[in-house]
Amino acid sequence: MNRKKIDVLGAGINGITSAISLELAGYDTQIHSQNLPFDLDSRDSRISKIATDFAAASVIPHTVEIDNLATRMGVSQQIFRILSQHTPTGVGWRRHYEVFEKSKKNPPYANLVDNFSRFPESGEGISGAPRRNNVDEIWGWTFRALFADMPVYLQWLNALYINLGGKIVTHEITPETISDLKGSAIVNCTGYGSSVLFPELYSTENSDFNIVKGYLVHLPTGNIIVPKNNEELLVSYNYTPDPKDFEQGQDVYFYPRKSDIVLGGTRQKGNFESDGKWNGDRTKGPTIEITGVEIPEGVITINREIILNLTGIDIEQFDKSACCGYRFTTSKVRLEIGENLRRDRKIIHNVGHGGSGVTLSWGCATQVVELVCEALNDQSKNSEEICNSLQEVIRQK
Ligand SMILES: Cc1cc2nc3c(=O)[nH]c(=O)nc-3n(C[C@H](O)[C@H](O)[C@H](O)COP(=O)(O)OP(=O)(O)OC[C@H]3O[C@@H](n4cnc5c(N)ncnc54)[C@H](O)[C@@H]3O)c2cc1C
Repeated sequence: MNRKKIDVLGAGINGITSAISLELAGYDTQIHSQNLPFDLDSRDSRISKIATDFAAASVIPHTVEIDNLATRMGVSQQIFRILSQHTPTGVGWRRHYEVFEKSKKNPPYANLVDNFSRFPESGEGISGAPRRNNVDEIWGWTFRALFADMPVYLQWLNALYINLGGKIVTHEITPETISDLKGSAIVNCTGYGSSVLFPELYSTENSDFNIVKGYLVHLPTGNIIVPKNNEELLVSYNYTPDPKDFEQGQDVYFYPRKSDIVLGGTRQKGNFESDGKWNGDRTKGPTIEITGVEIPEGVITINREIILNLTGIDIEQFDKSACCGYRFTTSKVRLEIGENLRRDRKIIHNVGHGGSGVTLSWGCATQVVELVCEALNDQSKNSEEICNSLQEVIRQK
């Protein structure tokens, strides 16, 4: 069969899942990417503008606006569930807690996750929930959350893609060279790179296009006992202290992975100036320097207290490294058909996933397939068919 060729721009989580979904739908794809995320051997080589390098990653729709959240999240959850049954994928389950020191109404995803359960309205909390000392009342909820251990997961996805016949070429595409691509359609998954590649759509001067900065600290897990609850699931949390104690109402978080523990967070909004300088929110309280990065002190002090209460272990004793990543955010995720400047090719955009690019990746990738089919007048392939093909491929592996 003569398969139509599709060029996918970007090798981040949205590029690779879009390309895999297109391969499963019968297209012949090639990924073109300026950089490859997760150079696993060297954390120092991470490029701050590739968001995928910084996702921990929980499968929870935090910091994102998207049409049809329930559908996109439903498809993603369905595929992550399939992947969680295969250990090599690095996808698994966590007992996740979202805790607040002020009462909070249910999140929009409450009905979309497994075993969602709200803490008592009295503020007494529940046994096993993360807590700070001297805090009498906590509110929030807990659920079984899917979680992608990104270094493991990305490697598995790359191997799957190559196995399916996909090709990855490392080079930069420019507004001038984009028309030289030979495929029948182009899929844009360049994240922040879209601001350079498609300035007419994603200019950083456009208030629709924002960046949400987040700090991360990594700890080696070798020495720390990560808490498991009585379901034998690892515990993870997002914890929002009293607004006066941390970044005016933002959360800190704790995500255990196979080779390390990721502590966050902050969600500082802003953008880059033309000279690359940050123009936006800055840390509001005290900071500390870890491996040359100035981070909000609360990421360590608040997490330290909670982890000590959960595990009896003081993280102060461990080596730590810190970094800062950027979530590229449009007012809502762009999943749409456009054109290149020469108007000779359809471009399917899949960008602007904010803090949920991993979470929504499969839901968006299967929508990309539908948009490519529509753009090329091909018979539509729905998410169910992609899901079944993926399951079949995994079974044969
Ligand atoms: C601190 C932090 C924590 C996060 N935690 C989570 C989480 O727990 N769960 C979750 O779901 N999400 C999380 N996210 C969000 C998630 O990381 C992003 O939404 C997601 O990685 C975006 O992926 P992407 O593929 O769209 O873009 P990117 O990962 O940014 O990839 C873009 C790709 O395009 C390439 N590119 C750019 N320009 C060009 C060009 N001109 N030519 C060729 N190639 C180009 C780049 O080299 C790169 O490979 C987090 C993000 C941050 C910063």
